This record gives sequence, C-alpha cells and structure tokens, in this order.
Amino acid sequence: MNKKFYEDLSTDMKQLEEQNLVWDIKTLESASEGRGIINGKECLILCSNNYLGLANNPEVKKASLEAVEKYGAGSGSVRAIAGTMDLHLELEEKIAKFKHTQDALYYNTGFTANSGALPQLLRKGDLCISDELNHGSIIDGVRLSKADKTIYKHKNMEDLRNRLKEAKEGNYGRVLIITDGVFSMDGDVAPLKEIVELAEEFEAVTYIDDAHGDGVLGDHGRGISSHFGVEGRVDIEMGTFSKAFGVMGGYISGETVLKKFLLNKSRTWLLTASHPPAVAAACIASLDILERNDELVKKLWENTRYFKGRLKELGFDIGESETPITPIMTYESKKAKEMSRKLYDEGIFALPIVFPMVAKDKARIRTMMNASHTKEDLDFAVEKIEKIGKELELIK
Ligand SMILES: *Cc1c(COP(=O)(O)O)cnc(C)c1O
Repeated sequence: MNKKFYEDLSTDMKQLEEQNLVWDIKTLESASEGRGIINGKECLILCSNNYLGLANNPEVKKASLEAVEKYGAGSGSVRAIAGTMDLHLELEEKIAKFKHTQDALYYNTGFTANSGALPQLLRKGDLCISDELNHGSIIDGVRLSKADKTIYKHKNMEDLRNRLKEAKEGNYGRVLIITDGVFSMDGDVAPLKEIVELAEEFEAVTYIDDAHGDGVLGDHGRGISSHFGVEGRVDIEMGTFSKAFGVMGGYISGETVLKKFLLNKSRTWLLTASHPPAVAAACIASLDILERNDELVKKLWENTRYFKGRLKELGFDIGESETPITPIMTYESKKAKEMSRKLYDEGIFALPIVFPMVAKDKARIRTMMNASHTKEDLDFAVEKIEKIGKELELIK
C-alpha cells in the first residue's frame, strides 16, 4: 500500500466533508415503487426516476425471469464479438418503432451512449453548441471530442441564434446543437421546435437527450419529439431505460447509417460487454407495455397535476417545472437539508438538491411523481410537506 497516496486521499475527503460536498446515501431495502423500505423504515418515495412504476411491474419481471431461464445470466462478450443476442436486436427494432425513427442502437447506459457517441460524431474542425445546463454525460462526451465547443444560455433561443451566426463565420465542418430534452433539476423542457427550426435555417445537426422525456412526454410517452410534433426532424435522439422504463440501458436512434457508424466507432459500445439477457428482455417488456397502452403515462400526469396543484394552493414556490419533476424551493441549503431530514422522520423519502448541483441560493427538495402513487399517498405527502413547510417558514 502506498501510504502517502492514502493520506492524500484522506485529506481530499476531509476537504469535501468541510465543504459539505459528501453524499449521505440511503439504502433501498425493497423494490423501487411508490412506497419502499429506506434504511429500515417504510417511506413514501418521492425521489425515484421510476416514473411509471415499471421497475417492479409483474410483466417486466416475468420477461426478465424467462430470459434468464432461456439465455442464462450473462451475454458472454461484447456486442461486436459473441455478445449480440437476438434479444438485443429485437429491442433495437422496438426502440426504433417506438421513437418513430429508422433505426436504433442500444448502449449499456445513457451515460455511455452520450460519452461514446459524441466523441465520434464531433470531429476536429466541427463545433458543438451546448445548453449551459446539459447533463454531465453530454459534457464528458463533448470533452472527449476534438471539436470546438461553445455554450448557449439556458433555453435562450436568441443566444443560440447568435452562436449559430458566429459558427457560420467560423467555417466549421459540422455544427451540432445539443440539449437535454427535460432538465432534471428544474423539470423545464427545451424549446425543441424552435431549436429544430434554427438548426434547419443554419443547416446544423440536432442531438437531443430525452432521458427524462421518454415515457413521460408525447403520445404514449414517445418523448419530446412527439410532444412538440417534430418527429423525423431531429437528427440524433438519445434516451435511457433507467428512468421511466424502470430498467437500465441507453440508446441512440436515427437513420440506419448513424447506427452503423456508431457501432463501428463508439468505444463505449465496442469495448464493453453487452447487457445480460434479463436486462434486455425487461426493456423489451417495458416498451411493449407503453406501446400497448398509455394508462401509466396518463396516471403519472394525473398525479403530477394533483400534487402540483395542492402545493401551489398552499403557497409553495415549485419553480417553473413542466414535467413530473417538482422542486420545492427552500432557497437556503440548510433548509433543504433540514426539510429532507424532517420528511424522512415523517416517512417520506425526498432528497435535498444543493450547491454545486444548483446555484447557491436555489436549494430545493426535488420531488418526482410516480404512476404507482395513490391519491392517499399524495395527500399524505402534502400534509407532511405543509407541516414542515410551516415549521421552516417556507409558507404561512
Ligand atoms: C440520467 C440521465 C442520463 C444517464 O442515463 P443512464 O442511463 O442512467 O446512464 C443522461 N442524460 C440525462 C439528461 C439524464 O438525466
């Protein structure tokens, strides 16, 4: 053991602790659902991305178990060698069908889709124009590329237009606009129609990260392109199975040549083993459920409207969210942390979001709705949030 190395690490950790940058991670001791056991205590869960409750859906679980019986536990290889199973191909076909695109490529996670595709799609001499609040996996993907990059102000179309004008003078090979569809901290939505129109005007390429839009926005949860009626006009769509679909896995969809290019070039696709059959089968089952009916999506929105309406009535500042992500603003970090503690004592699991995830004076509790929450669950949550909100003087 290198003693000096471990001493240095301990010093670094101490600094993180002093700056309050250390995670206090709680443990889920049951399935991920509207309610679950958190650190030994039954809680209403308000901070999971499992929007539609599909993580513990009987049909999804059954598909997973059957895949284990038929195909075993692991795939045995990377996709390019001996690890492409018919399940992976079936899933890709179904993703393309669901997203109304020509084709799709399945990655291990959303993170590896972004961090693997972007360095290949952005070449030397290209320019990437990125929203300032984009996800870390986009930021890392762009960092790994040899292209130039520039940041536009959050959702600001005038600023984006200016960047595109500047790009014209810059004589770039390819200009790629990239944005999250739904921004996970505030729950606001990128103005995709305007972005697509600007891209068409300036002959730029569009790349949209629909991680929080899939299963939530659009017809049957097809995502943000469906929501804004711009299907077929976005060049590259990326998404994940780890959120509303309740499983795990990322994808990129678009034309077949995009898939072919990426599977030959993406290191995060070529150099990592493919998903276990149980995972691919569960993703297929989740997609099948959404294709078949949109009841869960409707229930999610019903819950969202109800919960937001009640909190607004009580006078809470719940930000500018347009999605099931509902921030309860506390402004001060201390209050956000205190509120989270008090909520847990009352049997509600919701995490504080504080600096550096958001600006110093924009601390909040971030809640997320779930289709498996009942009206009683939401009433229970609102009652406790009201009580604690008064104690912390967030409302009168
Ligand atoms: C969660 C998320 C990802 C990463 O997805 P995983 O499949 O969990 O790796 C990428 N982009 C955005 C915007 C996300 O919210």
